[in-house]
Amino acid sequence: MASSIPDEVMMDAALIKELVEVAKDAALLQGVLMRTEESPNSSELVTYAPFTLFPSPVPKSVFLQALAVQTHFNTLVDKISQDMDFLQEALASTIEVDDFTARLFKIHQQILQEGRSQSIVLGLNRSDYMLDQREDQNSSLKQIEINTISASFGGLSSQTPHVHRHILKVAGRLEESQRILDNNPAAGLARGLAKAWELYGSERAVVMFLVEVDQRNIFDQRYIESELWKRNIPTVRKRFDDVYKTGSLDPDKRLLVDGKEVAVVYFRNGYMPQNYTNEQCWDVRLMMERSQAVKCPDISTHLAGTKKVQQVLARPGVLERFFPDQPQVVQQIKETFAGLYTLDMGPEGDKTVAMALAEPNRFVLKPQREGGGNNIYGSEIVQVLKEVRGSPERTAYILMDKINPAPIQNYLLRRDAPLAISNCLSELGVFGAYIRQGAHMVMNECVGHLLRTKSSEHADGGVAAGVAVLDNPLLL
Ligand code: ADP
Ligand code: MG
Ligand code: MG
Repeated sequence: MASSIPDEVMMDAALIKELVEVAKDAALLQGVLMRTEESPNSSELVTYAPFTLFPSPVPKSVFLQALAVQTHFNTLVDKISQDMDFLQEALASTIEVDDFTARLFKIHQQILQEGRSQSIVLGLNRSDYMLDQREDQNSSLKQIEINTISASFGGLSSQTPHVHRHILKVAGRLEESQRILDNNPAAGLARGLAKAWELYGSERAVVMFLVEVDQRNIFDQRYIESELWKRNIPTVRKRFDDVYKTGSLDPDKRLLVDGKEVAVVYFRNGYMPQNYTNEQCWDVRLMMERSQAVKCPDISTHLAGTKKVQQVLARPGVLERFFPDQPQVVQQIKETFAGLYTLDMGPEGDKTVAMALAEPNRFVLKPQREGGGNNIYGSEIVQVLKEVRGSPERTAYILMDKINPAPIQNYLLRRDAPLAISNCLSELGVFGAYIRQGAHMVMNECVGHLLRTKSSEHADGGVAAGVAVLDNPLLL
């Protein structure tokens, strides 16, 4: 089985053992860190964030393709967020049955009725891809999803190249070591936040990271915070509860939290139902959306990242509506789309059900959820669809073609897990950053990448979900 590293290295048990020790220390040295499960809110106990021993091969052409299409995805997400009729129509069936999406949509509608009090929007997203590598075909880049809220690992992935370079040198692979790409999404994401803060135009105002109750992945965020402090931009971390207790809107709808005016709210929380532990969290989300603070993302951009919207975008003629005079952009985006199928009530949805029941292993069934571990595969698809196929409940899901990358051998380094060689699949993420002020795009950039790798035994799940680990591409 393929790897970026020759078999004599992969199979040399003594060398691997030595490299693993070197690797863990290199990760700690470079700040590829996470807090531990047992103490998620204290840095007294930290460990390395899980990562691969070796980088994974990625064809150069698809890597460049993913980078090249990113600014178009930024534009697309931003256009969708401004198209009320489109969002309404796309999500109409979903919000009938999915409470979480319905609550977000209700806030979105309320903001529209009131009128937005801030014309600046900051988008920091991550478009994720896998390579479809069926036998006798070239590998093709297929989008898994785009994350328009709380896209993580831009911080840690700025450090992992140093770790892999070091491991490869110690392994005697100097040539490969020199081919590990530089990567610094943290700097680009921070540039977006800094620019939004500047446009807000108040020296005393702060950038507020809205963070989770448990903060295992705090170091990933600290890289971005640190970039902001370097620019003398004051940065605070607050939970929903803090904002509930100390936050308010002044008569001009300026957001004040703990006595400080907030210029930018950067959501690193609020992307899944469990984040809203009580009604007060929803009150706080609404208050922040109503405020003058720049939201990253605003509620409409959050909705633009739903899986239902992704499915609707893949319908014939829809992308053309957003890029009427740019057939090449439409083409470039479309090339990355896998097959996506509606489960709306009606003959088309019925056809999707029949197709999935006939060959469940060809598909993934996806609810409107984020954070990994929510999708449905194989025989479970049959089980779920048999339950919901006759009712509108089925419209909470979309169906997607399953992408099949060729497995690669690697060692996954994770605290408390025994060391073993695994067959692995990788997912490439590309970070986008943009700012729109009124009708004017002030910034639109691709700011870096992320490679995550998991054992092929796991169908689903990201790094935070404890399944995937951090990696780097080695371009072929
Ligand atoms: P989430 O928002 O929870 O991250 P994703 O759509 O990214 O949802 O799915 C989670 C994981 O499931 C992905 O990281 C990937 O490993 C796997 N996955 C999702 N869609 C597909 C697909 N179409 N083919 C193969 N694997 C998929
Ligand atoms: Mg997601
Ligand atoms: Mg994902």
